[in-house]
Amino acid sequence: AAKKKGRDTLAIFEPALDREARDRRELETDLREAIARGQLRIHYQPTIDLDTGATTGYEALLRWHHPRRGVIGPAEFLDIAENSGLIIPVGEWVIRQTLAETAAWQGDFRIAINLSPTQVRSPHLAALVAQAIHTSGIAAERIEFEITEHVLMQQGEAATTTLNKLRGLGARIALDDFGVGYSSLGYLQQFRFDRIKIDRNFVQRLEDDADSQAIVSSITRMAEAMGIATTAEGIENRRQLDLLRKLGCNEAQGFLICKPAPGETFATAEAAEAALADTGSVVLEYRK
Ligand code: C2E
Ligand code: MG
Ligand code: MG
Ligand code: MG
Repeated sequence: AAKKKGRDTLAIFEPALDREARDRRELETDLREAIARGQLRIHYQPTIDLDTGATTGYEALLRWHHPRRGVIGPAEFLDIAENSGLIIPVGEWVIRQTLAETAAWQGDFRIAINLSPTQVRSPHLAALVAQAIHTSGIAAERIEFEITEHVLMQQGEAATTTLNKLRGLGARIALDDFGVGYSSLGYLQQFRFDRIKIDRNFVQRLEDDADSQAIVSSITRMAEAMGIATTAEGIENRRQLDLLRKLGCNEAQGFLICKPAPGETFATAEAAEAALADTGSVVLEYRK
């Protein structure tokens, strides 16, 4: 009976694994075509100043309009892109598209673009960025690149070389998902970041966890002493927003303020205001 059970289990288990592998291969094949077929889009999510409520920037977040699967987010295909090398053409498209699309937006704010380890390792990245800046006409000082500590962990000196080149162009560099990794503090010595993005994990625990409040408060004080700006990620309710402000965080981002949305939503000052009002964003009230 045991043997039979084992075989049955295998019979159920194997096809599931096969299916997963086939799914990944299929996604990779589809992703190869996705750029040429115009299936990739950028959504943008605003960040706000915690003192004034003013919009300080927009983060570009990749979306894939898959012909059969619908809209899928980076969590479902970024590792496939990263492991297949497709992140290079995809990332290049993101940079060109984001700068081309946002260069004409009205207002004084930053544009943030995420970079993966493979992108940062590429010796061509800085030249590509320089060219995209030139073509779009956007001021380099308005661009901020976000990397996670994985980039520094995996790419070490190659990463700091590229990041210094990007900064040489005038762009700023932010450390994303700060605090969840193994040695976040160490990475602050390895590279001089302009901004730290405090991970959503801390924000989620803020309300009923005094330790999380102590951690966030230490991060903001340390950052201020080092001349580094702070943005908290993933704010979903008003209490989190108020606490972060009290704990000395500079900026905030999250569904409470505004969900990521297509570019036209924010292209003019009026459209951006209307979008915040539409989603019932707490920000408008916060500004008063
Ligand atoms: P990230 O850079 O930390 O971006 C924040 C993620 O949290 C986004 O997920 C955003 O939609 C989500 N988010 C924002 N506010 C909230 C909130 O209040 N609650 C919750 N639950 N989630 C919130 P998304 O768009 O799925 O992106 C996931 C990750 O994929 C990003 O994390 C970033 O690391 C990466 N990524 C996104 N776009 C690109 C890209 O163009 N290139 C590269 N290399 N990576 C990208
Ligand atoms: Mg980011
Ligand atoms: Mg993040
Ligand atoms: Mg995050």
